[in-house]
Amino acid sequence: MDLPINIEAVKGFLAPEEGRALHDAARDTAALGPALEIGSYCGKSTVYLGLGARAGGGQVLAVDHHRGSEENQPGAMFHDPDLADGHGGIDTLPHFRKTMRDAGLEDVVIPVAASARVFARVWAQPLGMVFIDGGHTLEAALVDYRAYAPKVAPGGILAIHDVHPDPETGGRPPYEVYELALASGLFRGLALVDTLALLRRLDV
Ligand code: MG
Repeated sequence: MDLPINIEAVKGFLAPEEGRALHDAARDTAALGPALEIGSYCGKSTVYLGLGARAGGGQVLAVDHHRGSEENQPGAMFHDPDLADGHGGIDTLPHFRKTMRDAGLEDVVIPVAASARVFARVWAQPLGMVFIDGGHTLEAALVDYRAYAPKVAPGGILAIHDVHPDPETGGRPPYEVYELALASGLFRGLALVDTLALLRRLDV
């Protein structure tokens, strides 16, 4: 996999090995349906997903309201003043669009500027892969899981970011959703790459 841009210059937290795992998962599931990402932010993970989807002949739906999660708001721990929208909030959509254009992925990645909860109301097609990397509160993580886990095609992949089995290293909601997915009987654990959990949707 050759990266078409300097990925470290794109804002966001994603380790290179996590990116490679996302790339391979998107490539390997592309024939089952599009990959859907929740929480695209400035597009760092979307570049990996887009390159993988392209290699597999598929598409990526990049879902994000682009107004930032709780932790990105002014005054919060992960606020970045470069993303200010001039109206007291943040807007990551221009940054995301620049990343997709620079990476040459506008023919592969379909941006959906809406909350994942709202988009789930109209999306019924099976998905080859779902990547949950949206809000990190338990409520936000549960909404994303409930809305999209049932849409993963049999044989497809559910990926969850920021999974910390050790509570000393990070917050709990993504890990709790990962445990829920394993306990559901619908998914089998595939791998944990740094903090990226990969699960396979089981067939009947
Ligand atoms: Mg993340």
